[in-house]
This record gives sequence, structure tokens and C-alpha cells, in this order.
Amino acid sequence: MSINSKIWLSSPHMGGGERKYVEEAFDTNWIAPLGPNVTGFEEDLKKYLNEDIYVAALSSGTAAIHLGLILLGVGPGDEVICQSLTFSATANPIVYLGATPVFVDSEKETWNMSPELLEVCIKDRIAKGKKPKVIIPVHLYGMPAKMDEIMEIAAKYSIPIFEDAAEALGSKLNGQMCGTFGIKACLSFNGNKIITTSGGGAMIAKHKSSSDKAVFLATQARDNAQHYQHSEIGYNYRMSNIVAGIGRGQMEVLDLHIKNRRSNFFYYKSKLDQIEEISFLEEPLGYYSNRWLTCILIKPNIEITRESVRIALANENIESRPLWKPMHLQPVFKDSPFYSDGTSEMLFEDGLCLPSGSNLTKSDLDRVIKVIRKVMS
Ligand SMILES: *Cc1c(COP(=O)(O)O)cnc(C)c1O
Repeated sequence: MSINSKIWLSSPHMGGGERKYVEEAFDTNWIAPLGPNVTGFEEDLKKYLNEDIYVAALSSGTAAIHLGLILLGVGPGDEVICQSLTFSATANPIVYLGATPVFVDSEKETWNMSPELLEVCIKDRIAKGKKPKVIIPVHLYGMPAKMDEIMEIAAKYSIPIFEDAAEALGSKLNGQMCGTFGIKACLSFNGNKIITTSGGGAMIAKHKSSSDKAVFLATQARDNAQHYQHSEIGYNYRMSNIVAGIGRGQMEVLDLHIKNRRSNFFYYKSKLDQIEEISFLEEPLGYYSNRWLTCILIKPNIEITRESVRIALANENIESRPLWKPMHLQPVFKDSPFYSDGTSEMLFEDGLCLPSGSNLTKSDLDRVIKVIRKVMS
């Protein structure tokens, strides 16, 4: 490989029996949004996460959030509480349903939804006359949110939790898998996630009736009749059997991917932690992150900012990316209420995601480290 070959932020990494499952689908002509790979992938996920949950494989993580919110009864005029520091896909489905997102800021320990501000928000929305319908915390970059505290507050006000675990497959909090805390949750298998099916997602539910209903809605809501009859509005959100074949192969290497991504984090940290302006997102006691992306904070000074580091990397053909721009700063959500203490804005200003793929080599990582050390010196 040439010295200047592109280093990506997070690229697909095949390595299990993906081709075998996809070929099986061809050989048996299961080229449809159902089939043995779809059922098998759902079983694999269930086995991996927790035997007591149910999984519906869908066309995307966004579809999973959309269907999950429908099943939780979100409709026009409702309010849904959403972590502000996240990817827009967390918030968009709220708007699809004619509801309003209400954004809550992050805390500094996990970069996820602040339990304190969540409670401030709930009290204020109730005082203003409307109890929020659902709370959506996110496990950003693989770091679990403070679920114990968030669940306690949610229970106190009887508001269900939809957990966005799109970036956190394999992450754990006190031994419990992310995606199994909320009444419902989503996973994503998009191209740059920790495992990918090219595009895809899943809705996780605590009850079988709920995942059955998700599959029903995802396949055009056909009533049980020979003729095509519909009593509800349906969607075309089911995962295809080809895509699910890739997923089954990827499940065989998921733990290896997590191991590699975690060692990326530890390697970056060992080489960059000495630089005073750079800090890392640490795991609090009991937290286990899949380290989907390794992110650093760069304390700005007159010469160096997050942007100058990003540009220096880009000049060396290395892709890095600012943290997600918080939703409350997005033009499209400018009218949504927001409960803030400035944390997500600070994280956005100073935060940078480093190349984190499970297929990076030590010399790739060394190239990244060398550029950062050079800018910082
Ligand atoms: C990727 C992602 C999603 C959406 O998943 P898709 O499969 O791309 O639709 C939702 N939330 C977060 C936090 C994500 O990173």
C-alpha cells in the first residue's frame, strides 16, 4: 500500500461467512424480504443480546425508530424527548409522525443524555401542559448512556424509553447489553457501523407481540386474508434475505471487531494522552464501550483547534470528523425546545472522531498519530 493511501473513518469489514449465506440465498432463490437468513439473523441477534428480547430485522435503523415510535403511540401534536448530541436519524422519525422533538443536553462523563436536565425538561413540559410521550437516549460512539438514572426518572414519570443503540451493538452497562434497557430499541447495520449489512437495522422489543406488530407494519400491514386487505397504514421496511445473509456472516466476527476497535482506542490513548490539550472519553466504572469510534477532545489555543487538526489529517489523506452537530443547532430543528447547560456545544466545538475501523493496521494508526503529534507540537 502506498504511504498516502486513504485512511477512512470507519469502513466496512467483512470476514465471516457473509458470502456463504448470500450464495445460499441465491442457490435457494430466497431473493425476497423474508427467508431463512432473515430469521437466522434475528435469532443470532437475540442470542447475542439476551434470550428474553425479540428482534425484527428491518431495512434501516431509522425505520426501526419510526416503527418503534408508532408502536409507542406517538402521533401528531405529541412531544418526544431526544438527546440533542446525536445523528439526525434519531430525531427525524419524531417529525415523520407530526410530533415535536424536545432536545436534552449531554453530561460530560458519557457525552449522552444528562439525567439532571432530563428531569428538568420533563417537569417543565408537564408544567407547560403536555407530558412527553417517549424518551430517546442514545449510546453515542458506543458509550452507554447513564441508563440507571435515566430509567429511574422515566419510571417516576411513567414515560417509556426508546433506546437508540445504533452505534452500540456489543456495548454493556454493568454486564447488560445496550439495546435491552428500553421497552424498545434500535440497532443499525449501515455501511460504517460496527457490523454492516450495507444498509439495514433492527427493532428490539421486550414483548413478542410488539416485534410481530413491527414486522406486520414493515410488510405493508396486510390483514390475514387471501385477498389484499388493509385495516392500517403499512410500510415497506422489512430486511431482505440477501442483506440478512451479510448480517449472519458479520455476527461471526462482531466480537473480533469490538476487540479491534477497543485496541484502536487504547493504542491512540497510549500515544496521545501525554499531549496536554488532548483528552479521551473514559469508561466510568461498570461501563463497557464497543469503541465504535475513538473520539478526542482538543482544548483549543491560539494556534490549534479541532478544525486545524482535522485539516492536517485531511491533507495526509486521513478522514476524521467533528462530533455530531447537536440537533438544537440544526436549522431544521431551530424551533424545537431545548434544555441545555452548554455541554454538547462544547463537545461539538472541541471533539474529533479519529479513524476507528476494525480493519486498520498498526501502521495506519501510527500515520494518524504522527500527524496529530506534529500539529500539536
Ligand atoms: C446510524 C444511526 C442511526 C440510523 O441508522 P440507519 O441504519 O443509518 O438508518 C440512528 N441513530 C444513530 C445514533 C446512528 O448513528
